[in-house]
Amino acid sequence: MTDSRILVDLDALAANHAALRARAGGAEVAPAVKANGYGLGAAAVADRLWAEGARSFYVARLSEGVALRAALGDRAATIHVLDGATPGSGDALEGANLVPVLNSLPQVEAWNSRARGRRLKAALHIDTGMNRLGLRLEELKVLVGAVDRLKGLEIDLVVSHLACADTPDHPLNARQLERFQEAVALLPDARRSLANSAGLFLGEAYRFDQARPGISLYGGGPEGRPHPEIRAVATVEAPILQVRVVPRGESIGYGAGWTAPDTTRVAIVAAGYADGVPRAAYPKGAVWFDGARRPMLGRVSMDLIAVDITDCDAALPGAMVELIGPHLPVDEAAEAAGTSAYELLTRTSARATRVLR
Ligand SMILES: *Cc1c(COP(=O)(O)O)cnc(C)c1O
Repeated sequence: MTDSRILVDLDALAANHAALRARAGGAEVAPAVKANGYGLGAAAVADRLWAEGARSFYVARLSEGVALRAALGDRAATIHVLDGATPGSGDALEGANLVPVLNSLPQVEAWNSRARGRRLKAALHIDTGMNRLGLRLEELKVLVGAVDRLKGLEIDLVVSHLACADTPDHPLNARQLERFQEAVALLPDARRSLANSAGLFLGEAYRFDQARPGISLYGGGPEGRPHPEIRAVATVEAPILQVRVVPRGESIGYGAGWTAPDTTRVAIVAAGYADGVPRAAYPKGAVWFDGARRPMLGRVSMDLIAVDITDCDAALPGAMVELIGPHLPVDEAAEAAGTSAYELLTRTSARATRVLR
């Protein structure tokens, strides 16, 4: 067994779901399972979250929605597609019973005219300050003043997304909250959804009727660092291939990027770019093995890294080291590589075996 593997702790996922539900008060928790469940496997994640009581899910792409519908089979889940009603997607959206999150006036128009006497379910995405997707407040005002433009739609949910929720005292949070309140007042019959994971930690005012957490379900803290209520879900492991002694003055790896200041015991680990280790993991990155962090030595290769195992007798070929997991939180591994938990998780390897526990 020389493949890296990703252990997905579904009980930890369920525990995080429960923690976020507690944070949400009475609001619904609708998991974001886009990007293959943040790299952990959307079908397995959604299956367990359904068992934990989740009934609405968010994906980004139409294709993700179609795949999730197939995975959930006859379970009556609501699946929201954040890309919305993109050109040409109508048949597939309806065919898989997906709810588009309409995010521009042309999308509203397209979905409304598709209805032809029916009423099609939709969520409406309002931009409250992120300037990514969503109708501006002025556009919403025009829309609600022209009933014909909405009469084919059953808008059951108004959504907006926070740009700075991971920075609780950022002034944009309060400004977005204010604009969101203004927006939802124009559609008083629709349910309201504002908070992502971090938004759930901003306080009651941000809860509304539904929250859409992603990263904290999967083990990332709401502020980009570990949080006591959030457990590690993914453990990424790879085996040691060999142990060698590098004499003083010799270097390791491509570019001779690290030179031994002293004779150094080194483990060569079967993990590299293709296993989701980013190039920038060196020089600050480490793995966890036998009770301690073991620093990476030299440049990451396609399939290999080297780590310092001086004074560690347990390092033998076949032993598994932890790249991300309960001892090396995804937020800390991300920080060391100058990236985020989002990127590390979604870039976990396709080559790695996923093992559900
Ligand atoms: C990805 C996403 C979420 C989930 O965000 P997290 O920060 O992962 O909790 C919620 N809402 C929207 C619109 C998103 O794009």
